[in-house]
Amino acid sequence: MAEFTMELNDEQKEVRDWLHGFAADVIRPAAAEWDEREETPWPVIQEAAKVGIYSLDFYAQQYFDATGLGIPMTMEELFWGDAGIALSIVGTGLAAVGVLANGTEEQIGTWIPQMYGDTHDVKVAAFCSSEPDAGSDVASMRTRAVYDEAKDEWVINGTKTWATNGGIANVHVVVAVVDPELGSKGHASFIVPPNTPGLSQGQKFKKHGIRASHTAEVVLDNVRVPGSCLLGGKEKLDERLARAREKARKGGERVKNAAMATFEASRPAVGAMAVGTARAAYEVALEYARTREQFGRPIIDNQGVAFQLADMRTQIDAARLLVWRASWMAINGKPFTAAEGSMSKLFASETAKKVTAQAIQILGGNGYTREYPVERMHRDAAIYTIFEGTSEIQRLVIARTLSGMPIR
Ligand SMILES: Cc1cc2nc3c(=O)[nH]c(=O)nc-3n(C[C@H](O)[C@H](O)[C@H](O)COP(=O)(O)OP(=O)(O)OC[C@H]3O[C@@H](n4cnc5c(N)ncnc54)[C@H](O)[C@@H]3O)c2cc1C
Repeated sequence: MAEFTMELNDEQKEVRDWLHGFAADVIRPAAAEWDEREETPWPVIQEAAKVGIYSLDFYAQQYFDATGLGIPMTMEELFWGDAGIALSIVGTGLAAVGVLANGTEEQIGTWIPQMYGDTHDVKVAAFCSSEPDAGSDVASMRTRAVYDEAKDEWVINGTKTWATNGGIANVHVVVAVVDPELGSKGHASFIVPPNTPGLSQGQKFKKHGIRASHTAEVVLDNVRVPGSCLLGGKEKLDERLARAREKARKGGERVKNAAMATFEASRPAVGAMAVGTARAAYEVALEYARTREQFGRPIIDNQGVAFQLADMRTQIDAARLLVWRASWMAINGKPFTAAEGSMSKLFASETAKKVTAQAIQILGGNGYTREYPVERMHRDAAIYTIFEGTSEIQRLVIARTLSGMPIR
């Protein structure tokens, strides 16, 4: 087990500086354009692929970093550059983690490379869980997967919503109900391979922020996938379902939604994205407060402004420490006895919303225009308290964990 550390080692510092250079030189200058276009920034993803940032190897290296700091460091730097573009770059990684966590070695080897494509022909992947009537309440999911034993195929029907890269992905990872009696315990994840008939993009959403990231509905109409596309395989699924049925029978009630708890280990990564956006806005505000003069002196000479900056920086640093602690716990298999993963996401995302709003205030009228990046950062920051579990759901998970109540 790696010691908990608050300092990056030399190798990590080198990677962080390299990521920061890419964020500053490639992502940040492109941010306003792709925000306005509201389109996937394919040339930037291609550039990230060329230098090795958009690749399975790079993510795997950061994901398995024993200190736990590889992923938070990566997220913070890329999202410091721009949240919409960064999500376009890391969105595939979120789908890939679903396969890494649940897939067999063969599935990992077959599908993850197809999620990324190659440097000449980059591809993206999508993770599709949310539905119109199943957002926070994952157990209400309706998308159904039925096994056709004669053909060894799964037939999937339903509508997914809010899928990052949904419909434009080469590979979709789709969560579906295989046993409706078991609530979230009756769900399974499937690979939908490229060009599978029956999968189509529904509405593409026009969003408040992270507009360079594609978000859309995904419609599954009699989508047939081979048995080999069930993540983890049929035998493992049957064993898992049998255990869940036995537990439900003993408990005497329908198994409730426990899926929320399983996000604990991945939530710090979203917290790190929020830290990146918050830090970016804080830096712009600090520089502006030092140089903007009113009443014959820089506005930072007013305590009302300086104290805001002091609070902003304090909260960003506190958020990063919570994120690093939870990331270290996750990689070292420490139990989240106080829902530390949710804590880190809750605090960092609320901090990003607050800090980006303060940055607008410090820039005055300029902060409110698209001539300066803080209004975009504020729009972007609003997503962190919503996706991967809203702030209310984080509080619910923390409170139930502390009180020993079941998470449902
Ligand atoms: C830009 C974007 C990208 C996304 N990307 C993906 C993706 O790639 N894949 C994917 O599967 N999903 C994705 N999502 C979906 C996201 O995870 C959901 O939006 C989120 O889980 C919230 O669900 P909902 O929108 O249905 O809100 P709801 O669950 O309807 O919640 C509405 C409000 O009610 C509150 N609420 C609900 N239940 C409770 C409760 N028990 N106690 C207190 N308050 C409660 C919520 O906190 C919220 O404020 C994305 C969403 C967005 C906006």
